[in-house]
Amino acid sequence: MKVELISINPDCEKHIEYCARTCYNSLDKMTADSHKIFLANLIKNGHLSVLEHSFASFLIDEISRACSHQLVRQRLASFSQRSQRYVNEKDFSFVIPPEIEANTIAKQIYLKTIEDIQISYAKLVDMGIKKEDARFLLPNASHTTITMTANFREWLHIIDLRVSKHAQWEIRDLFINIWKLLFNKAPTVFSEIYFLNWSKDYEYKKEIFETKIKSS
Ligand SMILES: Cc1cc2nc3c(=O)[nH]c(=O)nc-3n(C[C@H](O)[C@H](O)[C@H](O)COP(=O)(O)OP(=O)(O)OC[C@H]3O[C@@H](n4cnc5c(N)ncnc54)[C@H](O)[C@@H]3O)c2cc1C
Repeated sequence: MKVELISINPDCEKHIEYCARTCYNSLDKMTADSHKIFLANLIKNGHLSVLEHSFASFLIDEISRACSHQLVRQRLASFSQRSQRYVNEKDFSFVIPPEIEANTIAKQIYLKTIEDIQISYAKLVDMGIKKEDARFLLPNASHTTITMTANFREWLHIIDLRVSKHAQWEIRDLFINIWKLLFNKAPTVFSEIYFLNWSKDYEYKKEIFETKIKSS
């Protein structure tokens, strides 16, 4: 899995503060670090719409189609995904789930099946079958590349859903990476404060925040 922050609006936290202060006619109260307490209070009080003023885009590569299928359920985000209609997926690379990786027999079955699919896919394409039809053979394991853009409110919502004990391991790993990258750029918005006030599983979020986000 590779995750790269490819775009974020400049001064993303100051920008939210500026927009939100129009509500209170308090632009004159802005100082170099006034956004820290101001944004924390907005989040605590549930004035979350102001977080929609800042955006970030990620390039996400080498995740499985099983993972991207879950990802694109987030309806307020925007996506562009590598097409299996237009791109030749001969010799596609793929994810091996850790549980299968750790089991020699399961891994043999898995790799043999992938190899058979690769051979059959290549045969179909070589005999002139359109890629859009040959792709029906491709497994959920095959790698995909996707760009994803969302506003900060939606990123917090998705982190809340996917950095959870109940989430599937691959999408959870993906969102731990995304949370880390967002925290580095916007440490007030992507601190614990949202989860402390709004998450159903704050204890789990706190553990991840302490061990994987803050320390990165
Ligand atoms: C642990 C886990 C297990 C899951 N298992 C399954 C499963 O078995 N099967 C399955 O199909 N899905 C499953 N999902 C996906 C889940 O049902 C949601 O589709 C997905 O998490 C997106 O959630 P969302 O609608 O809150 O987010 P988004 O689509 O990102 O929307 C964000 C928020 O915007 C608002 N919103 C968006 N669209 C509308 C709308 N049309 N009307 C009103 N409000 C709207 C809601 O407040 C929503 O929370 C699972 C998700 C998780 C986290």
